[in-house]
Amino acid sequence: MSVREDNLERAAEFLNRFRSKPLPHFINGEQVSSHGAAVFDNVTPVDNSSLGKVCAGTPADIDGAASAARDAFDSWRRVSGIDRKRLLHRVADAIVARQDEIALVESIDTGQPIRYMSKAAIRGAENFRFFADRAPSSRDGLALPAEEHLNYTLRQPIGPVGVITPWNTPFMLSTWKIAPALAAGCTVVHKPAEWSPLTAALLAEICHEAGLPDGVLNTVQGSGEIAGKALTEHAAIKAIAFVGESSTGAQIMGQGAPSLKRLHAELGGKNPVIVFADADLERALDAVVFMIYSLNGERCTSSSRVLIQASIYDQFTAAIRDRALRLKVGHPLDPSVEIGPLIHPHHLDKVTKYFDIARAEGATIAAGAQKWPESKLGNYVEPTLFTHATESMRIASEEIFGPVLTAIPFGDDNDALRIANDVQYGLAAYLWTSDIERGHRFARDLDAGMIWVNSENNRHLPAPFGGMKASGIGRDGGDYSFDFYMETKNVCVALGGHAIPQIGTA
Ligand code: NAD
Repeated sequence: MSVREDNLERAAEFLNRFRSKPLPHFINGEQVSSHGAAVFDNVTPVDNSSLGKVCAGTPADIDGAASAARDAFDSWRRVSGIDRKRLLHRVADAIVARQDEIALVESIDTGQPIRYMSKAAIRGAENFRFFADRAPSSRDGLALPAEEHLNYTLRQPIGPVGVITPWNTPFMLSTWKIAPALAAGCTVVHKPAEWSPLTAALLAEICHEAGLPDGVLNTVQGSGEIAGKALTEHAAIKAIAFVGESSTGAQIMGQGAPSLKRLHAELGGKNPVIVFADADLERALDAVVFMIYSLNGERCTSSSRVLIQASIYDQFTAAIRDRALRLKVGHPLDPSVEIGPLIHPHHLDKVTKYFDIARAEGATIAAGAQKWPESKLGNYVEPTLFTHATESMRIASEEIFGPVLTAIPFGDDNDALRIANDVQYGLAAYLWTSDIERGHRFARDLDAGMIWVNSENNRHLPAPFGGMKASGIGRDGGDYSFDFYMETKNVCVALGGHAIPQIGTA
């Protein structure tokens, strides 16, 4: 039996349970159906066949979950940091024990190739371990002594929080948000994306089995417009950690405004990778190809615009084209496959619309720009490269979120910087040069929350993760995550004898 056949057989076994009854919510330690019993169909991008029904959360379900999170908060916040650490490590152990199941289910649910998803569970477990280790010090503050007073700060968990996640790498992203919230002492209501509901249900089950008390993590399935909206409006929820599109982030800010919700938003991107002629071009090529064509290009930090110095433009775009044409498209459970199907037919429509836009705008189609002809049922596209694009084109400024790269030539440093910054987004930027001064100058001047110099996206959990401009508000990672999930309190104690202004003594 080939690895692909073995994967298919094992995935079918894991997926069986989701077909027998609608996927429930997980509220207060129990699996529950929706009020009103509404369900929706969950399909696999491989061929758009059903993987089973999912309960469609209502405002009443959100109310149940938020109330459970509010009730559990009082005791969870009092669990010692050491005990939270122990428990969250148990969750990490349980994730590792079910890593194959998580990888196979996520791959079929999202269309992401197994070669990337096989690491999804491990990365999720790493997120839990990283924040577990910091739980005991999460409340630490600063000593800020003044002449006659001692100021010191304390941190305390903000309360029950809502976590709303997208479909592109749902398991890893959910843990990246949920682990620090739990480590900080918050309780959570999670609303996963409706196009990829399955591994969120596995995470809730795993946390419960690992001993997380009832009500500490609650998961409500359903649409953004109904379940997500109700979560952002609920009075018991003190903050929303959101990952998704910029326009949804703006909507959520509005929805949360009446209840003065704190919002952390990780949004879209149109990230430039700038390649100078003096760079190590072989390494640059590897990184450019990996950062746009891995994970189906459905990646917020994908390098979807490559800005190439004019003197090497033809040579470098020819090399990208050569790689793009050799990328292996196919079934996501085939371990040799590099590009799987896009998440949903609606998303396929969005991506293919940009193929027409590119033609209408006059860009050169150097590779792809069509559906993958070998599958009639799945949401497959060919890896695509547009060349001779200008920065004013829509393909050079709008987030496409697929395996689609737009190549733009530039003249000098000023030209490169101007084009790189001339979009509404500011999530990530990549720079390839052997000139160290230029590297630091660009790192300073690029409008992006994360800059990688001579590197692809390289994850370091203590480092701040997040974007500027329309790419987001706030940062994740290390202590930055705790800043979001916690309130900082200042305590000011007089050291004795300082002069207190006297009034009303005349
Ligand atoms: P999306 O905004 O459509 O949906 C994200 C989540 O928000 C889903 O769970 C959805 O149900 C929910 N939602 C939708 N409308 C809502 C509303 N009115 N109120 C509350 N919740 C609502 O995004 P998507 O299509 O699922 O994901 C792709 C987007 O996510 C891309 O733009 C990508 O760049 C972005 N993303 C960003 C990061 C990052 O770290 N910056 C990471 C991954 C993905």
